[in-house]
Amino acid sequence: MGRQMKVQTFYEPGVMRLEVHDIPKIADNEVLVKVKAVGICGSDISYYYGHSPLGTPNGKGPLCLGHEISGVVVEVGKIPAAMQLFKEDDRVTVNPVQQCNACDACMRGEFNCCPHAETIGVNVNGGFAEYVKVRYTHVYKIPESISFEQGAIAEPLACATYGIKRLNIQLGQTVVIFGPGTIGLMMTQLAKVSGAGKVILIGRRDYPLSVGVELGADIVINTKDEKSPNYTADLVQKIKDITDGALAPRSIVATSNMTALQDALRVTGSASTVVYFGLPGNEDVLKIPVLEAIYLDRTIKFSWLAPLVWDNVFKVLANKRVDLDKIITHKFSLEDTENGIKFMKESRDDKIKGVVVLD
Ligand SMILES: [Zn+2]
Ligand SMILES: [Zn+2]
Repeated sequence: MGRQMKVQTFYEPGVMRLEVHDIPKIADNEVLVKVKAVGICGSDISYYYGHSPLGTPNGKGPLCLGHEISGVVVEVGKIPAAMQLFKEDDRVTVNPVQQCNACDACMRGEFNCCPHAETIGVNVNGGFAEYVKVRYTHVYKIPESISFEQGAIAEPLACATYGIKRLNIQLGQTVVIFGPGTIGLMMTQLAKVSGAGKVILIGRRDYPLSVGVELGADIVINTKDEKSPNYTADLVQKIKDITDGALAPRSIVATSNMTALQDALRVTGSASTVVYFGLPGNEDVLKIPVLEAIYLDRTIKFSWLAPLVWDNVFKVLANKRVDLDKIITHKFSLEDTENGIKFMKESRDDKIKGVVVLD
């Protein structure tokens, strides 16, 4: 029997157990990472509650979840060792989408569309454990200046970066962001870094909107809470007032709320670009007035995962252009992962991002 580790295993909706397993044996092309921090993603919450199937062949567990991972290298496979790419104690973050590099999509760099990807915490074992094995091509070194908590949420930052890249912001443009969650608050900062003029952040609760203001949002709008000083009943009119009637040239939707998905079309005008990032349900349908879209010369895009942006992510972090610490509001131990997932879903406390932190 090999050395052992603690693992949180997800079995079926509502059932996760802390177990003791053998530490995984690595292949020649892998690295063993001792986990230090793991973000609790909205998708982990969806899997836990059975709102979306896992990426496993039958869509079910058992599987260790968690794909937003940072840690230290404890064992290096033969191939990366021969190239002296990693050594023990290297601080690293993990790109969980391990594409095949051999299919047509991969040949074009469209790694987010690889049908053979082994995605850590989605169809192969993830980071809610003391150790995780990762292909050496998907382990990136991080400097001391980036904390393990920040390193863990480099993955959602990569996804947010890809969305903002697709938004194609021109200098000075007004950008409307729907959804002040982890991703929307990252996008608020990335839009500013990308040269946006005004950033307008739209949500339904004041607490995350107030964090948005701290992180650079110029205007925040609450579309739900009538008691909020930021409340607006007529969102379109409000955006017209801000933009001298022109509506916004850019909008990105970082929520799965269908009203927000439709509103993004209503607050944007001619030659505008709208990017959809949030994950709605299987049955949700977006209604697009086609003739108007043609006359307005609209561009409508979608954003999925984070191909070819990780270098930008580390440069943005190294240059302190994005503050991730204000986004992490709650920390949990590995033992408390299941409670952490439930808390992030059910608690009515002020919260944005939860991270599981290991010693
Ligand atoms: Zn995620
Ligand atoms: Zn592929």
